[in-house]
Amino acid sequence: MNQELKQQNAALLGISAEVYEFCEKVWQSLSERFRVIDEISEYNQGKVLYALQKNHVSEACLLGTTGYGYNDMGRDTLEAVYADVFHTEDALVRPQITCGTHALALALMSNLRPGDEIVSPVGKPYDTLDEVIGIRPSKGSLAEYGITYRQADLKPDGTFDYDAIAKVVTDKTTLVTIQRSKGYAVRPTFSVSQIGELIAFVKKINPNVICMVDNCYGEFVETIEPSDVGADMIVGSLIKNPGGGLAPIGGYIAGRKDLVENAAYRLTSPGLGKEVGASLGILKDFYQGFFLSPNVTAGALKTAIFAANLYERLGFFVLPNGTEDRHDIIQSITFGSAEKLVAFCKGIQAGAPIDSFVAPEPWDMPGYDDPVIMAAGAFVSGSSIELSADGPLREPYAAYFQGALTWQHGKLGMMRSVQELYSEHLIQLPRTE
Ligand SMILES: *Cc1c(COP(=O)(O)O)cnc(C)c1O
Repeated sequence: MNQELKQQNAALLGISAEVYEFCEKVWQSLSERFRVIDEISEYNQGKVLYALQKNHVSEACLLGTTGYGYNDMGRDTLEAVYADVFHTEDALVRPQITCGTHALALALMSNLRPGDEIVSPVGKPYDTLDEVIGIRPSKGSLAEYGITYRQADLKPDGTFDYDAIAKVVTDKTTLVTIQRSKGYAVRPTFSVSQIGELIAFVKKINPNVICMVDNCYGEFVETIEPSDVGADMIVGSLIKNPGGGLAPIGGYIAGRKDLVENAAYRLTSPGLGKEVGASLGILKDFYQGFFLSPNVTAGALKTAIFAANLYERLGFFVLPNGTEDRHDIIQSITFGSAEKLVAFCKGIQAGAPIDSFVAPEPWDMPGYDDPVIMAAGAFVSGSSIELSADGPLREPYAAYFQGALTWQHGKLGMMRSVQELYSEHLIQLPRTE
């Protein structure tokens, strides 16, 4: 396409010709990697399409129920579709599961009994699970119900410490929780095959252990999921990858039938389980979002890789780096100064489809010691499959970001972030030949 026309278009979004040219060069160097992502996305699209066809999803499935929600065909069929895509016996996919933390808490609380023990073999889990497990004392935590917790930390290089794991996983262990994505921790995200090795190791020590994987941000990044390599239960949020940007709420638990049933009994009530829970008008978005998810995830992945390469070339430390393999959609960039971090977030916000005209400000968030800045101009509040960024204002001033509903928006949004830093004289553009 005519380069001048593209630049004029970008100029309307506040992206200058110099910034556009620099970014365009970086993008041109990524075509081979993007081709592989497209192939994975095609493969996953096929998986979802086949599951929709196999389960005879019809127009009637897109309608919802009210009240008790008895005989909600669309809801039950959607759960069969999830189970087929993830190759599990069953699944629970509900708008009554309010977020990822809720889904994880539900999976844990429903499948553990007093005296049971949880082990995390991958270090401390995601922050919000601290209070669920009772690592930080909290009302209603698992600890209050007499469920104990142990962990094995990762080795300094971020790999599994099998010696330490062999010490904490015992006959007494009931459930092992494995977080796939690094979340906001400084450690690598695990590939599905690494998770498979870990599960095999754990099951060798104690074959009865329930292996649960926190699958947040990982869905459809690879051609297989943790449930393909021995996980008994995988858990995630619908305002991340599998909701495809359309689901306005929700979470899922997919896995062994007895485990999913326990979760359903806890979500609604013993005896009622999956039979109740009206889907209201939400099913069309759940189906369509899941259908779009492989492509949306691919766009988010391309955006993360593009950003890693842009900011690496601008001299910043990026994790993962520009060339390494990806197992989730999260990218971090270390800015080293508050000004640069704030400018980055301002640029992301300025490139958003919603609330682009407001400037994000750092604020004191509950649970954080330092002010946090966030950029999110999203259709679904708090959705992190949409292009969004945040970072605490403290050394080393790292921004974490993820998402973009389309690769094209991700590209323009990233360019807009570079522009912000450039306009504020916080970076110099490398010379391009
Ligand atoms: C987002 C996330 C969660 C929690 O999900 P919320 O929807 O924010 O409650 C848990 N674990 C990981 C790894 C996550 O990325």
